Amino acid sequence: MSKMLFEKSVEGRKGVSLPAMDVPAVDMPANLKRNKLAEIGEYSELDVVRHYTNLSLKNFSVDTHFYPLGSCTMKYNPKVCETVARFDGLAAIHPMMPVSGGLDMCQGALELIYELENHLSEVTGMSATTLQPLAGAHGEMLGIMLIASYHRAKGNKKKYVIVPDSSHGTNPATASMMGYEIITVKTADYGDMDLDEFKEKMNDEVAAVMMTNPNTLGVFNPYIKEISEVAHAHDAMLYYDGANLNAILGKVRPGDLGFDVVHVNLHKTYATPHGSGGPGAGPVGCSAKLEPFLPQPRVVKTGDKFSLNYDKENPRITSYFGNYGVLVKAYTYALMMGSDGLKDVAEKAVLNANYIMQKLKPYYDLPYDKTCMHECVFSASRQVEKGVHALDIAKGLIDRGFHPPTVYFPLIVPEAMMIEPTETESKQTMDEFIDAMIEIAGIVDTDPDSLHHAPVTRPVTRLDETQAARQVNVRYQKDA
Ligand SMILES: *Cc1c(COP(=O)(O)O)cnc(C)c1O
Repeated sequence: MSKMLFEKSVEGRKGVSLPAMDVPAVDMPANLKRNKLAEIGEYSELDVVRHYTNLSLKNFSVDTHFYPLGSCTMKYNPKVCETVARFDGLAAIHPMMPVSGGLDMCQGALELIYELENHLSEVTGMSATTLQPLAGAHGEMLGIMLIASYHRAKGNKKKYVIVPDSSHGTNPATASMMGYEIITVKTADYGDMDLDEFKEKMNDEVAAVMMTNPNTLGVFNPYIKEISEVAHAHDAMLYYDGANLNAILGKVRPGDLGFDVVHVNLHKTYATPHGSGGPGAGPVGCSAKLEPFLPQPRVVKTGDKFSLNYDKENPRITSYFGNYGVLVKAYTYALMMGSDGLKDVAEKAVLNANYIMQKLKPYYDLPYDKTCMHECVFSASRQVEKGVHALDIAKGLIDRGFHPPTVYFPLIVPEAMMIEPTETESKQTMDEFIDAMIEIAGIVDTDPDSLHHAPVTRPVTRLDETQAARQVNVRYQKDA
């Protein structure tokens, strides 16, 4: 185990030298002075640079490893987006700078919001978009609030939200937090919400149907038009969880499928970095019926001037304008790709996932065996017979230099391994991953126990996850 930074401290070592003082020294009031020195390590610049560089190399990231984490769309984040996000005119402005009256120095920043909203409305087929939500789950919350406002305004009595059993946990959690009861519909053999069961469970008290399409099995719902008609006949709104938008970008617009509200996870589909909890952005688009309920302020364009409109009482749902840096990166990405580029994203993402699916099919169980969209879901059920679980396979991949796929999700597939290569991976990289998966399948037959100890090549090996959660011990003790 390498040493912690403060264990490397050497008394008297310096990383920076301040210039000689060129103003008279002033004695500080006694009450502002420390009575003992702060316990800050002392290092040379090189000590610090090496420490953090080496630490960063222990990470798995899209910059260092293939990262096929299903549902998360961990694709390459173009570095040009980082450069643009650091432009002074965007990074060094304050959200409370005046937007009118001759002092306006943030017209460009407002234009970016306006243009990105329009771009997302176009891609999703929605009437208007707000960039305020800070993540997909936050977008879901806003989306359900919009739907609730709509029903309230119409005097509709609504009690339920329908979700398929393949849905991401944030869908039912959001609806439930917003006061709705959840009706779950099971997945049919064809890999999506059972149409007959859906029709049976649909009723006039259903406020919304929340769907991911393609869903978390990577399956595009063949009955989506019918679902939309049935839902609308009961004045229920159709919510589109946009986490999987990467599969249909520029090809199909959720609005044309009948969806009324959409969130887009910019940190997934629009290539801005994510992981370790953020930052993200979950813009929400909605149809004209829901537009009056969007949070304020709205950026409006009059002539060639942009301003903020507060003409409604709908409060913001975040401070200022959302995670602005993420929005800049997403906008840069959209401009860079252009409409043909975005279509290409969807095509290659789907092609790559099908390639991996076909190559691994002989080695792992494929519960829903059909052409997939941008991700495929295997089950380790065959390997479990030899005592090897999805978790062991995931850890075995770490030893072979790959970030594991998502495991144990979606919940309806036992021992699930959900693989999403994304469009940015080369055939060579995918082949290396496929080889590693095949090698592991072989080891399951010859030496299954060795996988129970994986990873063995990393600074931290197999943890007792229960103990790690119950008895968290992350505090350094000097003399321990
Ligand atoms: C990622 C994801 C979410 C939640 O999005 P966050 O941006 O992580 O809050 C919701 N649904 C699905 C299917 C997802 O993959």
